[in-house]
Amino acid sequence: MSEYTPPCAECGGKCCAYIAIELDKPRSKKDYDYIRWYLTHKNVHVFVDHDRNWFVEFRTPCSFIKQDNKCSIYEKRPNICRGHGDSEGSCEFYSSPYLLYFTSLSEFESYLDKKNVDWRYKKS
Ligand code: SF4
Ligand code: SF4
Repeated sequence: MSEYTPPCAECGGKCCAYIAIELDKPRSKKDYDYIRWYLTHKNVHVFVDHDRNWFVEFRTPCSFIKQDNKCSIYEKRPNICRGHGDSEGSCEFYSSPYLLYFTSLSEFESYLDKKNVDWRYKKS
């Protein structure tokens, strides 16, 4: 059986272009407001993965990605990087990791409104 080789050159380095920090699932006005605050910042997005876990995502490329989209510290790359692209199933080239993806305040607010979520603070 031949070993899987991810198509990093064609992909453009999708999995090396951001970091993501897991969040508690938002449940309160305060939680929704924090997410609104994240989304007011450039290159900061929020997503829900296919296991329904919430993340804040910072779109910023890794300092160690080379022009050909290969890793320049491959032997000592962080452990989390080792799970990316070890099979088609774990490679973002083939499938999106996002169940929901919010790139702006208005997208998130529309989502909450569609779900009838009471997220607005009363004006003081
Ligand atoms: S998503 Fe897959 S093909 Fe793209 S850079 Fe990562 S491992 Fe390579
Ligand atoms: S350390 Fe290497 S594999 Fe990990 S994000 Fe950076 S370039 Fe990609």
